Amino acid sequence: MPTIHPDPHAIAGMITRLGDRNYPRWASQIRATGGCRQPIHLRGRVLHVDRATGRLLHSYTTATEPDGVLRLPCKTRRASRCPTCAEVYRADTYHLIRAGLVGGKGVPASVTAHPCLFVTLTAPSFGAVHTRREKNGRPLPCRPRRDAETCPHGRVMSCTARHRADESCLGEPLCPDCYDYTGSVLFNALAPQLWKYFTDALRRRVAKPQA
Ligand SMILES: [Zn+2]
Ligand SMILES: [Zn+2]
Ligand SMILES: [Zn+2]
Repeated sequence: MPTIHPDPHAIAGMITRLGDRNYPRWASQIRATGGCRQPIHLRGRVLHVDRATGRLLHSYTTATEPDGVLRLPCKTRRASRCPTCAEVYRADTYHLIRAGLVGGKGVPASVTAHPCLFVTLTAPSFGAVHTRREKNGRPLPCRPRRDAETCPHGRVMSCTARHRADESCLGEPLCPDCYDYTGSVLFNALAPQLWKYFTDALRRRVAKPQA
């Protein structure tokens, strides 16, 4: 059993929360996040207006929510950040792959007669990040470079640490100022479109009679 050290600040927070009249709504928000460790706090409002008449059909604001925020799950894939969301992602991926191989979830069972390929599509790099790789069950140094360059922000582009699986730096850039966050956000936002172009082109290519 791990030893639990009571934190007076956390206990006081819990008592306040339990006594709050908004407690049921807060608890339902927490349940809806599936127990996410680091929920995203949204603030804002939504107005549904009938374009023809200008009549307000529905409105919602986070102002009336507990603490004035709506909590959503972080949906990370990294167990070091949020074990719950990472587990949901892992289970979803399993079912997605399973349906592709044997059918189910809207995929017909005749899919078993199709050829199957396991293809790894790698996104471009947006900068060096801390990683954990293993060889024969032993962690390898993160990014060892003997003649590592120093970036314009004075950070050496090398990391010789053997990171633990739960270290929070995993996936974080070696230099946050060099890392192309804009590129990364745009790539992820446009990934569905890229995927569509790719699959359309692939089908056209496969359908073409081979010379
Ligand atoms: Zn989460
Ligand atoms: Zn590292
Ligand atoms: Zn830098």
